[in-house]
Amino acid sequence: MRPEVKMSSSAFKLWREANDMHARSRFGGFYYLLAWCLLWLTSRTPTQNLWLWLAGGVLLLAFVMLRIAHEPRGHQLEADLGQWLRRHWQLMLLQALIWGLMLAGVELSQALQVSHLMVMLTAVVFATAMAFTFPMRRRPCAVGMLLIYLPATAVKFWHERETPAESAALLMYLAYMMLFLHRWHREYRIGLEREMRLRQHSEELDQRSRTDALTGLGNRYQFNVLLANWLAAVRRQHSPLALVLIDIDWFKQVNDSHGHRAGDLCLHLFAERMRKVFRRDSDVLLRLGGEEFAVLMPNTSLEQALQLAERFRSELEQQPLQLPALSLSITCSIGVGDYLPLCDDSPEAFYKRVDDALYQAKSKGRNRVELA
Ligand code: GH3
Ligand code: MG
Ligand code: MG
Repeated sequence: MRPEVKMSSSAFKLWREANDMHARSRFGGFYYLLAWCLLWLTSRTPTQNLWLWLAGGVLLLAFVMLRIAHEPRGHQLEADLGQWLRRHWQLMLLQALIWGLMLAGVELSQALQVSHLMVMLTAVVFATAMAFTFPMRRRPCAVGMLLIYLPATAVKFWHERETPAESAALLMYLAYMMLFLHRWHREYRIGLEREMRLRQHSEELDQRSRTDALTGLGNRYQFNVLLANWLAAVRRQHSPLALVLIDIDWFKQVNDSHGHRAGDLCLHLFAERMRKVFRRDSDVLLRLGGEEFAVLMPNTSLEQALQLAERFRSELEQQPLQLPALSLSITCSIGVGDYLPLCDDSPEAFYKRVDDALYQAKSKGRNRVELA
């Protein structure tokens, strides 16, 4: 399962923890109910005090439903997730406390006549299950174990129903479980860190696969992905989307006269120039390959895109690129278009229309902007 939006690392950790908590605790309530039924059926007088057994069953059934219903779905913010986790632990600890008291109650009661062994077994089993299943947080989990374990043990101890040796053995087992909780907690956290690192690594790889190394702009792959996604959104929302395609004029001559490295630097500086002109947060700048660039501009009308493209062209013409020991005058040709749902039936068709405009700019003499 993955979160629905991109999250910070700390939010992701909470998200993972909350989802693990819910997945592991969802059906836990049934086990309490089942154990209660077993206590009832193994008591010596199951047909008596039925209302008490029933009341306990109803209470546990309420917890079954609460545990299922309290879901972290839709929580994506750190604060919300933290709050959810606190609430869920409160719910779990409340159930642990009630279970502990119920066990102590049946142990104490003369009328219910339950098997002492069954009481201690259920206390031990549930405390163990708690440590094993919820080691995400050490302290609340340890508190939960004590809440389950101690009330019935205390009753037995005070009523001298178990020998000191038995009490000591039970306490030793509890201490042993605490040690295991410590260990399982560490393992859980290590697993979480490992998952975080994998996630970061795959995000970095994803980012790299979409970025052009020379200019730091998005690459062709990013362009294809974005264009397809955005066109789908634009069709739904009827919002404008403009595309600007830019090709440097006579770039081959730059390489031929000044060398390939100067050519590379020129491409880098050209991208910097683009960033200065197309600088809205929503504008996405891309290098489609060679000396061909693109700007995808959501929520931008054709007129606005045309204005910016024209400004970019004229500033480039007037202000040469400053390479070390070389001032390089270059120009570019530009095609500008906006998405027309009735005319462009695919992303490729839209791109082709704007590319044709760029081709026209070239054939009409370069250093100009043409509308698609
Ligand atoms: P036009 O005005 O018709 O666009 O002419 P042009 O010379 O810019 O276009 P052409 O397609 O003939 O040549 C593009 C050149 O771009 C050829 C290639 O050497 C150069 N080029 C492509 N990618 C890179 C790169 O990554 N670095 C460098 N330095 N040059 C590149
Ligand atoms: Mg060119
Ligand atoms: Mg070209």
